[in-house]
Amino acid sequence: MNVRVGSSVSGKSRRSGELLAQKLYAEGIRDQRVLQAIAQSPRHIFVPEILAHKAYDNTALPIGQGQTISQPYIVAKMSELLLADGVPDSILEIGTGSGYQTSILTQLVAKVFSVERIKALQWQAKRRLQSIDLNNVSMKHGDGWQGWSSKSPFQAIIVTAAPTEVPKALLEQLADGGRLVIPVGVDTQILKVITRHGDEYKEQQVEMVKFVPLVPGALI
Ligand code: SAH
Repeated sequence: MNVRVGSSVSGKSRRSGELLAQKLYAEGIRDQRVLQAIAQSPRHIFVPEILAHKAYDNTALPIGQGQTISQPYIVAKMSELLLADGVPDSILEIGTGSGYQTSILTQLVAKVFSVERIKALQWQAKRRLQSIDLNNVSMKHGDGWQGWSSKSPFQAIIVTAAPTEVPKALLEQLADGGRLVIPVGVDTQILKVITRHGDEYKEQQVEMVKFVPLVPGALI
């Protein structure tokens, strides 16, 4: 496994990260690569300073602009699902948000492509990742419903906001044999894993989840 988090991560946050990883193990996360990435990631730098004392709780937290940093359990669960068939070369992430999920992914695969519709969040996430030496990520200010066609196909795609239906562009940009991990629905959302086999797509339903909506169109 690649360990790239820089020396800026303090001993205190390292211990908090390890405790969080233990909690996630107790909740059923078993992939050691994912647990190790959680253990060594400084989640406190991805939340507003005033909430830093809650950064290692297993909860979602507000990050401004009406958005949330995902609950660590769901970050770990989705990462585990992405790696279930082997480690993809690269991952497309839709919904950069705080950059925390991105920081976990950059430790698991060689290259991450991440799309965010709110420019201010994208810039903040970029600065945070650079501050801990996680540089194997390319970011785009764009509409995740459209994916990132010039970089496609992707062996793995993760969506961290919920569309009303699976975006067609993401199905098209998935490589043959690739997997898409995505929450779908409005009030009731289901986390799905969709795998591509040629022109056929197989769907597995994982569990009920709660994400902010994948907003169509207009960038801000
Ligand atoms: N994985 C993130 C979760 C952020 S919440 C984290 O751990 O912090 C979901 C994010 O999806 C928000 O930042 C929101 O702005 C973004 N989003 C919503 N609709 C989008 C769209 N159409 N395209 C790209 N990003 C979108």
